[in-house]
Amino acid sequence: MGLATEDVKDETGVALQGNRARTNAGKNGMNVGLFGGSFDPIHRGHLALALAAAERYSLRQVLFVPANIPPHKQKHPLTAFIHRYAMVALATQDEKRFVPSLLEAPEGKAAEPGAAVPAPASAPAQANYSIDTVRRLKRTLKKSDRLFFLIGIDAFRDVAKWREARALLAECNFIVASRPGYSLRDVAESLPEGLRPAAAVTRPFDKQAAKGDLVLPGVTLHLLEGVQQSVSATAIRQAAAQGKVLTRWLDPRVADYIRKHGLYRGKVRRSESQLT
Ligand code: ATP
Repeated sequence: MGLATEDVKDETGVALQGNRARTNAGKNGMNVGLFGGSFDPIHRGHLALALAAAERYSLRQVLFVPANIPPHKQKHPLTAFIHRYAMVALATQDEKRFVPSLLEAPEGKAAEPGAAVPAPASAPAQANYSIDTVRRLKRTLKKSDRLFFLIGIDAFRDVAKWREARALLAECNFIVASRPGYSLRDVAESLPEGLRPAAAVTRPFDKQAAKGDLVLPGVTLHLLEGVQQSVSATAIRQAAAQGKVLTRWLDPRVADYIRKHGLYRGKVRRSESQLT
């Protein structure tokens, strides 16, 4: 991390290390990325993050995992899972490392080996928690594979509130896409209690940009710079509602899909009430 050349230790022996974290998988293993989100819709910012992470950390695969029901209350009603998944599939078509994933499909049944399509929902759907998704995915990976959890820094700021946050951070390495304006201190202080270094240790890093690696007992964060693009799904939904051309923010196939299905149009969106 920006603490770069030297280790800094607090009184408990916590070390903040510079650019030294191991990122290679074991012998015969591969590096795999898991990138979750609402993807409503998937846009160039998501793809840029995943591509930069794949290049920088030699990820053989990046699984794009649309959440059926994200655990945190949404500011807007989500578009039906099947539409968001379809858009992810379209946007990831040209990159062989990118895989659209059904890990958080309704009921989660599609993640079981051999299941091709999600089972019809019979009970009210449960929220998808990353810790469950990661554990389910890890059961399908080899011991020698290494799992990386991809996330933007805005989302990472809330990680301490996630279910079993400490366990999740211990299960996989995190690749956090940082952006200007965030300091190393912001990143360290986002960690859940128990993993968060003492304030005396993080305070000096207020002025240091969030970059490099942060290695602490129980957590390894890789901070990826320069990938955050000024695009958000919120802005795209608003633009679509106004009938604007979307291709500057989206893959043209996704823009076409949005147009054909009339997604994000008007106040009552057809996508929420019915599937066409
Ligand atoms: P919304 O505007 O609806 O909140 P969003 O554009 O932030 O959506 P999400 O699907 O919520 O998209 O985000 C999934 C992940 O992608 C999160 O980890 C988020 O931080 C990251 N992300 C979102 N937008 C960008 C962007 N422009 N560049 C890099 N990462 C991004």
